[in-house]
Amino acid sequence: MQEIKPAAIQQLLEEAAPYCEQGELASYIPELTKADPQHLGIYLVTSDGKAIGFGDYQVPFTIQSISKVASLLLALRLYSPEEVFSRVGMEPSGTPFSELSGFRDLADTPANPFINSGALAVASLLANKISFEEYRAFVAALCHKPQLIITESVYRSEMAHSERNHSLAWELKRMRLLSADVEETLDFYTKACSLSVTAQDLACFAAYLAGICQAQVDNSGSSPADQSQVDLSLDPEHQKICLSLMFTCGLYDGSGRFAVKAGLPAKSGVGGGILAILPGQAGIATFGPALDHNGNSIGGIKLLELLSEQNDWHCLG
Ligand code: GLN
Repeated sequence: MQEIKPAAIQQLLEEAAPYCEQGELASYIPELTKADPQHLGIYLVTSDGKAIGFGDYQVPFTIQSISKVASLLLALRLYSPEEVFSRVGMEPSGTPFSELSGFRDLADTPANPFINSGALAVASLLANKISFEEYRAFVAALCHKPQLIITESVYRSEMAHSERNHSLAWELKRMRLLSADVEETLDFYTKACSLSVTAQDLACFAAYLAGICQAQVDNSGSSPADQSQVDLSLDPEHQKICLSLMFTCGLYDGSGRFAVKAGLPAKSGVGGGILAILPGQAGIATFGPALDHNGNSIGGIKLLELLSEQNDWHCLG
């Protein structure tokens, strides 16, 4: 891993910050409009055991769709890739994340596990086998944050405005792709989206997906003994599936451009987070709640593109 130069990253943060003004907060979940659109931060965990943050990396926000990566990982563990992908596809959808047309064909499956319809199908697989507390403990272990909690106000706000996700869940039920009932699935999914994290927490999760040894990742000074009993071994097959889908579908309709410009597997959430991976070398997370028209953090994308370009991190380059 090449050396991280703090002054250079600080400069990129300053370069990316003005882009936040061109974005908008996610208003379809009213509670998310309470965020500060100027916030921008980044945290990096590298394979040589270093961890460093800049800007607003300690500001809490809701994980939103980044939870879909944890859900996919856990579903692959609890079922098998064959079982999971009998309910959801592996293709970019070419439509916004909450589209009903996210179904590839009305007689088929949702296009991928990262659009809402696909994530609801995965959430129902989880709700069929584990409690939400078990799921929370898994994400807490990934983030090295035992005290991971739900932001109740965001959970309630989304549940009160979840007509679209309800429609998607009912459509999944009609297609016999739900493993738990509609309300149980929506509740599990929405709670997962409402978990409160920081860029620092998500960088630990990213480092895990990057395949960086757990012992090198430390968050908030907790010793390994404080960590939960969750088995954190990472099956290389599951890692490959997650990173491939993040590369092709992680930023919805912005995935292709980001793959060309930054060349890093990544996953965004409308809370403003982006999780990005430099395989084998670094886990990175950004936070900036002002979003572009695809629902991706506008400042976060700019910052990751600049960072990747500056350090030659394009994984195909
Ligand atoms: N909870 C959000 C939703 O279901 C997640 C969307 C996102 O982060 N892209 O719409």
